[in-house]
Amino acid sequence: MAKHILRCVDCQAYNLTETCRDCGGKAVLPKPPKYSIEDKYAKYRRMAKEQERDITKKEESSIAKEQESI
Ligand SMILES: [Zn+2]
Repeated sequence: MAKHILRCVDCQAYNLTETCRDCGGKAVLPKPPKYSIEDKYAKYRRMAKEQERDITKKEESSIAKEQESI
């Protein structure tokens, strides 16, 4: 399990167990620095997706109206 290097949230020490050997604090997987950036873009991706969905909905309803009038 050497692939999973955990980092203590209290003293920032690296551990292979979920409990820090130095201070007994909780050790978690260190978040890659890219994480927050990706999350920011994910927000915009979701917004874009929602807008796309709204446009599609509007188009569908206008098509439906057109079909009704025919
Ligand atoms: Zn610690």
